[in-house]
Amino acid sequence: MATVIDGRQLATELNQATAKRTAKLATRGITPGIVVILVGDDPASLIYTRNKHRRAEKMGIRSVLEKLPADVDQATVMAAIDRYNQDDTIDAILVQEPLPAHLDGLAITNAIRPDKDIDGLHPINLGKLYANQPGHYPVACTPRGVMTILRHYNVELAGKNATLVGRSILVGKPLAAMLDNANATTTVVNRYTPNLSKVTRQADILVVAAGSPHLITREDVKPGAVVIDVGINRLPSGKLTGDVDFNDVRDIASLITPVPGGVGPMTIASLMAQTVDLAEWRQHGQE
Ligand code: NAD
Repeated sequence: MATVIDGRQLATELNQATAKRTAKLATRGITPGIVVILVGDDPASLIYTRNKHRRAEKMGIRSVLEKLPADVDQATVMAAIDRYNQDDTIDAILVQEPLPAHLDGLAITNAIRPDKDIDGLHPINLGKLYANQPGHYPVACTPRGVMTILRHYNVELAGKNATLVGRSILVGKPLAAMLDNANATTTVVNRYTPNLSKVTRQADILVVAAGSPHLITREDVKPGAVVIDVGINRLPSGKLTGDVDFNDVRDIASLITPVPGGVGPMTIASLMAQTVDLAEWRQHGQE
């Protein structure tokens, strides 16, 4: 029977460590600041944004919500990014996805100052990650949270096969780079990959970020594998479920994340930790 990863407990510990860091910065008169730019009134985005805001304020991070109407034009969004790029009280800029289709999301991402790019989506930060460059730069927070989980549970990565189901720029791609940088042998599959099960059964570490409820069942998992479920899917009943059939898989995996209570809490805790990183790195740059 697998050990069930307690993402909530780990997130609590990380949040405590982050709050200590903000308290230390406060003694020097520094308050880390994050702005979340939210376009439109997508209900899920509103909930995510509100959660981030509450969490930030609880731990001594100043949180600004820039709410723009659904029909806002590109120039107005670009002007907001420019304003926060230059605002010394803001260390982290987050543009909440999804954006309305009429906006050029790529141009918006590319306009964010790389040292304020909390989602690690700017090509400069992605390039540094892919090149495994040393030094400080932000990375995507969900993959960062997954790496923290793997480290905390002492999962050996070097020489192991890590397979990622899903290759989005926010989850699968950057996490594949992080696992590769940690010397795992990485395989990334997508919705066009034939015979998914044959590939996933090779995985010592299986990370699933497809957005497809219960895509992975026990037939797809190597006995003893570490299974990380990034998926968050809302069933018609309103219940949240992952991309992995947890009850089916838990007795053959060695370690498994539940949904909810696994990767989700670690994403938001990692976002807070990285906001404080950005504030600290900017301070060091100015000293
Ligand atoms: P996305 O839709 O951008 O990408 C999904 C990827 O999965 C694509 O590469 C697609 O090719 C692949 N895929 C889909 N169905 C597949 C299949 N049947 N076989 C193989 N590959 C398949 O999604 P995303 O933004 O990466 O999010 C993925 C899931 O993770 C969603 O459920 C999302 O809600 C969740 N998510 C959770 C967190 C968190 O904090 N836990 C953070 C981000 C995303």
